Amino acid sequence: MTRFAIISDIHGNFAALESVLRRIDRLRVDEIICLGDVVGYGPRPDACLNTVMRRCAHVVQGNHDEAVLDPAVDRGFNENARAAIRWTRSTLGPLHLDAICNFPTALYLGRDTVCFHDTPNREQTNYLNGAGAASLAFTRLDRPICLVGHTHVPMVFECDAAAGPTPEPETITCHRPVDAMPIPLRADGRYICNPGSVGQPRDADPRASFAILDLDRRSFTVHREAYDIVATQMETQRVGLPLILARRLDVGA
Ligand code: ZN
Repeated sequence: MTRFAIISDIHGNFAALESVLRRIDRLRVDEIICLGDVVGYGPRPDACLNTVMRRCAHVVQGNHDEAVLDPAVDRGFNENARAAIRWTRSTLGPLHLDAICNFPTALYLGRDTVCFHDTPNREQTNYLNGAGAASLAFTRLDRPICLVGHTHVPMVFECDAAAGPTPEPETITCHRPVDAMPIPLRADGRYICNPGSVGQPRDADPRASFAILDLDRRSFTVHREAYDIVATQMETQRVGLPLILARRLDVGA
């Protein structure tokens, strides 16, 4: 297994998930890995769970997935996220809840790669969105490549293996991936790679985001895929979720 499709933060957006999977099928991968948050915010948690469980070799548990199981977690969410989690909890049956409960919180892929939903370093910060947070996260990593989701913004942090276990933030390079442009993974580098979000991108590009990790060619390539945003917006309205959750999909925020 050397070529993986990495998807994350689907958030109940089934139109986006279907569109991304069609593209992944054309890109020919060995396995699809999901970094979590299959549910929350969006109107089709059941369909997303069914498809992810059928298509993905592994699924990591995200904080929204966890919140469906544990009401104590959603208390830390904002009002709209909490409303969506409560609705999601009320629509899922025991088989779905059981499946979510069995998603691991960390996952090793082969020799070189480890996956988390948000960070290897939960007690410090859970948003890996800058060099300072990346520096703390690198300290905890025992593999040269780490995959995370959670921020909904595609990003790659790079440092030299020679910089030791805790690289200074100023020595970390932050790459903002461009659609379909591979970012090389050097053999003497360490990386934290984020594929962005399938179902609720937040980098001002409303297209669904995912990535291909190719361990043979040593590259991480983010891809953007258009999908039927209106279909998800209408469904969001139909099930009675907060309107802001539909509107933000237009702008990728
Ligand atoms: Zn998320």
